[in-house]
Amino acid sequence: MALRKVAVLGHPVLRKVAEKVPESEIPSEKIQTLIRDMFETMFEYQGRGLAAPQVHESLQIVVMIWDFDPKKEPTSCVLINPAIKPLSEEKSSYWEGCLSFPGLRGKVSRPTRVLVHAFNEKGEALKFIAEGFAATVIQHECDHLMGKLYIDRMADFNELAFNLEYERYHAPSEDSTHEKIDV
Ligand code: ZN
Repeated sequence: MALRKVAVLGHPVLRKVAEKVPESEIPSEKIQTLIRDMFETMFEYQGRGLAAPQVHESLQIVVMIWDFDPKKEPTSCVLINPAIKPLSEEKSSYWEGCLSFPGLRGKVSRPTRVLVHAFNEKGEALKFIAEGFAATVIQHECDHLMGKLYIDRMADFNELAFNLEYERYHAPSEDSTHEKIDV
């Protein structure tokens, strides 16, 4: 396993539409190594999700923490060639941070429930519904695969802040763990 360098804002790879991974290539050493390296890189930078373009690989692969609870061991998942469909008009707002522009976070509203189709790292087809935290992480990561960033989804740039100012002026006074997401 190896840590990969993270592409930051301004690098063209973050604005490209990533290529689908042919199903026959999912078991290949190249893809399996990339997935392991993405997990290592995500954990190193304390992210909850990472998309392959963020490590300079323009491929439709996402790794993420499925259910984040600081008291429990994280459960992770891999999504290859994911397709998502919103299932609710209702939206959830989180202060999203992104490993590709460290130090900042912005408030983004996204559909609370989404239907996800993807392949996992074994090439098995997945179909499931994600809600709340997981739905936001998946939507943020799938945006990366389409060359989109969370700032493109923001409604109000008054809600874009450096982390210190976020903590000072915007963070809820208690139990803020579910208000912010680093992906
Ligand atoms: Zn991101």
